Amino acid sequence: MNAAAPLHFVDPRRFKASTQAAVADAHLRASFRQAMDFLQQRRAVHFGDRAGFEALRATGEAIRRHALANLPELLERLETNLVARGVQVHWARDAAEANAVFLAIARAAGATLMAKGKSMVSEEIELNHRMAEEGIECVETDMGEYIVQLAGERPSHIIMPAIHKTRQQIGRLFAEKLPATGYTEDVDELIAIGRRVLREQFRDAPIGVSGVNFMIAETGTLALVENEGNGRMCTTVPEVHVAITGIEKVIEKLEHLFPLYALLTRSATGQAVSTYLNLITGPRREGELDGPRELHLVLLDNGRSQAFREAAFRPTLQCIRCGACMNHCPVYARIGGLAYGTTYPGPIGSIVSPHLLGLEPTQDLPTASSLCGACAEVCPVGIPIPELLVQLRRAAKHEPDPGHGPLAGQGSAKDWREALAWKAWAWLNERPRLYRPAVALARRLRGLAPRNQGGWTAHRTPLRLAAKGLRERLR
Ligand code: SF4
Repeated sequence: MNAAAPLHFVDPRRFKASTQAAVADAHLRASFRQAMDFLQQRRAVHFGDRAGFEALRATGEAIRRHALANLPELLERLETNLVARGVQVHWARDAAEANAVFLAIARAAGATLMAKGKSMVSEEIELNHRMAEEGIECVETDMGEYIVQLAGERPSHIIMPAIHKTRQQIGRLFAEKLPATGYTEDVDELIAIGRRVLREQFRDAPIGVSGVNFMIAETGTLALVENEGNGRMCTTVPEVHVAITGIEKVIEKLEHLFPLYALLTRSATGQAVSTYLNLITGPRREGELDGPRELHLVLLDNGRSQAFREAAFRPTLQCIRCGACMNHCPVYARIGGLAYGTTYPGPIGSIVSPHLLGLEPTQDLPTASSLCGACAEVCPVGIPIPELLVQLRRAAKHEPDPGHGPLAGQGSAKDWREALAWKAWAWLNERPRLYRPAVALARRLRGLAPRNQGGWTAHRTPLRLAAKGLRERLR
């Protein structure tokens, strides 16, 4: 099978243009609305008891905060315990270093094929694309990821990568790309086709790649949550298993795993438990029948230590990648995930991407929110997403405050005209005798202002026009 390398189009600079195209696509809007409604209902079934949810969330938040407060020490403990169990640990400062580790492992194993389980961190480093440049094929084995890979696209949701595709589109894609496959739009048949093709990859691939949901420092355990069983195949069938994750995924104790697991599955897919929970503690041992001969863990920083360094941004790292904030975001539900132009879309993407990619290319993302607070309301680990969005907006426009290190790209959205206008406004505000006549004059001159003033008015309906439209519709 020749799966095409994914298109290299991570580019949040195109966010506004992509958003306009997405909003104009009625079909896309309708299918996302439907999918988000479905996921919201599934989650609501498990969190109907508000007090129960709050209690579990408080536990989850405390566990994640505790882990982050002790991050350097926990990472060292994790490494010690993993190494004691025969795991080879690799630290990667950025995507280039992480890809170099994968390449070295593939070269040593003489591998030209990797069977990949679902891993957003591998998307973040563009593993498939980079390995393809070196003649190594990475085949996605998660069904949603496999579909977007065949289509030459990127995931539009961190939990459900192909949520933007209809079964008819998938039927046509399979018929076109998979030899000897006729068109069908029957979901069970489509899944059976995918399984048949992917089973061969597990058999042939010398290297299996997976993500990691949680790393337990005290036991040196890697926890992997999944529903399809492909994660278990990737981590047990190939001779070499390479896991990759961000440094923030560490927790201290095994008992900390279960509240987070309960929050993750309920928030992500509305399940009380997932079909599989894999707890991996080292490669195959003497006398064992299965499991990889070699097990590697790649720990990626890629901007996370910047968020860790600044106390104000540290809660960003509490995230357990459940996707609930996306499912409840009115902006994401309308434009879908691809418009963001980043690996992580939606509210979580808007707070994490500025650390991964810098504020210069991502400066529009924190503004893609009405600050309605729906994301924070459902976040299972209590991340104050709207507050973080506001702080990032400020950081994009201003130099760092004294005592704070600059974020990458800090101040890149600074506009001297805007800064001057605010300075003038502040100056006027401190002088009531001048302020009142100035406001009266401005009110008189308001009619001369152009209706479309660029900036945000180019993308929103002015309030008085929206109110007029509403009145007319209500008549
Ligand atoms: S920010 Fe919260 S709701 Fe969003 S993906 Fe992360 S844990 Fe889930």
